Amino acid sequence: MDISEELPARFPHMRWERDFSLARHTTIGCGGTARLAVSPLCTEDAAELLCYLSRKAIPYCFLGAGANSLPSGEPFEGVVVRFSGLKTLFADGETLYAGAGVTGGALLRFAEASRLGGLEPLTGIPMTVGGGVVMNAGVKEGHLSDSVLRVVGIERGKIRTFELRDCAFSEKRSVFQSGIAVTGVYLQCRRTSAEEIAERREEFRKRRRHLPAGRSMGCVFVNPAGETAGRLIERCGLKGVGRGGAVVSPVHANFILNEGGSAQDVSALIGYVEQEVFRQTGITLREEICRLP
Ligand SMILES: Cc1cc2nc3c(=O)[nH]c(=O)nc-3n(C[C@H](O)[C@H](O)[C@H](O)COP(=O)(O)OP(=O)(O)OC[C@H]3O[C@@H](n4cnc5c(N)ncnc54)[C@H](O)[C@@H]3O)c2cc1C
Repeated sequence: MDISEELPARFPHMRWERDFSLARHTTIGCGGTARLAVSPLCTEDAAELLCYLSRKAIPYCFLGAGANSLPSGEPFEGVVVRFSGLKTLFADGETLYAGAGVTGGALLRFAEASRLGGLEPLTGIPMTVGGGVVMNAGVKEGHLSDSVLRVVGIERGKIRTFELRDCAFSEKRSVFQSGIAVTGVYLQCRRTSAEEIAERREEFRKRRRHLPAGRSMGCVFVNPAGETAGRLIERCGLKGVGRGGAVVSPVHANFILNEGGSAQDVSALIGYVEQEVFRQTGITLREEICRLP
């Protein structure tokens, strides 16, 4: 049976979408169409679904806010699993729990309203909590991993709690990039006045004003040791260089902007930048972005 009939019939209580546009659900705004997308409403349902997909060898991938993801541009004959149904948010003392589908903005507003500080460096980062944990979102003043107590996830179809030491957080990396679904996170915050939180958030918001506007995935490359990828790319004379409708931002060289191009244009430009930086400096850039099917 066709998966777009089989799966909604097998899991009728989940929200299914056919012909799901990856271009419309990623900030870079390009990509193909997936046969199906689904948003389970609780962790148990998500675990049951992932077990089923694995058992039946049905291809799937995860998607949060799509702010660090580049689709291949090809049609995807599988399922995009989203976590937008997992929106629980609560505070217990100085601990805050957030479901994977909570947006960064909602998390920060809730923390401020609860007088819980510590998450302000995440201000303005487009993300869901799930994607933020997977990518260890943050800025040099602080990352999500600084506040993580434990993560709830699904590994090989089983719901499991990952203590901080199991999460293997580093620069733009975590253990969850190995196909483990993140369904929620417990964060350690500290009691802080609403005024102080608001002030710090404003400070972080101001620092982001210089970032390029337009369709992007944020920084494309991880900073190599002792250097920023942006400065390196700029020194190689690549600001403003383009491929089709994709262009290296003239404002911040580690951003690639999609100005009406395709996923293939963006990918070709990333490849060119990598090649050119290596040719000129001998440095191999590591991609920070995630490739989607
Ligand atoms: C304008 C702009 C500015 C940015 N600035 C910053 C910044 O300052 N700092 C920073 O760190 N990042 C920044 N980013 C990148 C991005 O915001 C972060 O990486 C963020 O964490 C991505 O979250 P997301 O929900 O959009 O993840 P997605 O892009 O949807 O997913 C990222 C990866 O995680 C996987 N994934 C998503 N959700 C789950 C889940 N629940 N379980 C398992 N896997 C999952 C996806 O399959 C993918 O591999 C920026 C991006 C943009 C567009």
